[in-house]
Amino acid sequence: MNRLRNELVVYAGRLRVDPWARDIGPAWLLIRDGRFAEIAPGRTRPGEWPDTCASLDLGRAVVLPGLVDSHVHLTESGDGAGEDVSAARTVSERVELGVRNARTALRAGITTVADCGGPPEAVFEVRARASALPDCARTLVAAAPITTVRGHSWRLGGEAPDAASVRELVTRFALAGADFIKVMASGGGTPGAPPWEPSFPEESLRVAVETAASLGRPLKVHCLSAGSMRTAVAAGVTLIEHGKFRTAAEDGGGFDAAVAYLLAKTGTVICPTLSVGHHVLAAPPEVSGDAAALWRRRHPYDLEDFRHLVESGVRMVSGTDAGWRFTPFDALPGELRMMAGAGMANREALAAATIDAAAALGMGDRIGRIAPGYQADFIAADADPVDDLTALDRLHAVARDGQVVR
Ligand SMILES: [Zn+2]
Repeated sequence: MNRLRNELVVYAGRLRVDPWARDIGPAWLLIRDGRFAEIAPGRTRPGEWPDTCASLDLGRAVVLPGLVDSHVHLTESGDGAGEDVSAARTVSERVELGVRNARTALRAGITTVADCGGPPEAVFEVRARASALPDCARTLVAAAPITTVRGHSWRLGGEAPDAASVRELVTRFALAGADFIKVMASGGGTPGAPPWEPSFPEESLRVAVETAASLGRPLKVHCLSAGSMRTAVAAGVTLIEHGKFRTAAEDGGGFDAAVAYLLAKTGTVICPTLSVGHHVLAAPPEVSGDAAALWRRRHPYDLEDFRHLVESGVRMVSGTDAGWRFTPFDALPGELRMMAGAGMANREALAAATIDAAAALGMGDRIGRIAPGYQADFIAADADPVDDLTALDRLHAVARDGQVVR
């Protein structure tokens, strides 16, 4: 292999190795075979580094780790198309869509995305294509979300009538190569499975927890009601998607301080997906239709409940639910601003999109920070996002695995 092609030297005007780093000054990065090999603080390029390899001058930028969107649906369009429209797409149409979406994410500085559910044959193919294309985000997939019969998102192929079927599906998806497992513990947007209704009993969720753990796969569990979160935590779930408090009466307003306390006490991590409501409300009224009325009620509850969860000490990772309803694949910077606007420090929001997200996905030793041995995923912003999160909208460079795409 030609070593020259696999080395890159980057000069960072200011290097932020992770959101908690205090001193950020100039530094040189040596990238080899897609990983950070060496980091040299200061303005002087180490003399012993190869002088024949490519170099990138980011002397006017702050270089920091690439972002992780912990919750997307690559094979959905994010244009408000309903489940019927989506279900009518062929596998190859979904794969094309998925690759396009992974490309959009990477250009926005999102170097890794976690696909939280799609038809297995489509999402596995998207992951294979994205990993071979340097201009796509690294893609992790869950295969189909495991759900009750005719439960939320049942059309994606993950229906499980009982605990034995849950075990069988977790095993099948993991052995087929799923990076993590997704289970629906409440209803959601699928007609007939409203968000305030629980789906699986505690026993089935416990089987999912144990089977996923025995196969070494993180488990992400969708919960839109207080009751579903209580059941999930009792079953041993540690990663909750959405974490909403919907009720049949008001479709929101069900915040439960005892559940928040339980989440904080157990160290359960929530991926709050605040972008969904934001983007429904930002869509033109003629296309958002009935959804706009629904989310005008829901979104303020979601922001307020998020604030209460943060105040209660609940841990967060950031994810957008891109692809679902009107959420685009470059929404993560906006998600971080909403998290910060509703109670988190900028630094904490940035950690939720880097080191904390990586750890939740079981990849804390490979992505989410700039350190020797880590995958060379980085972005360069025109200011430090710890001071100003809008800097994430002004990127000078993005690289995944050491391949610079913009
Ligand atoms: Zn989702």
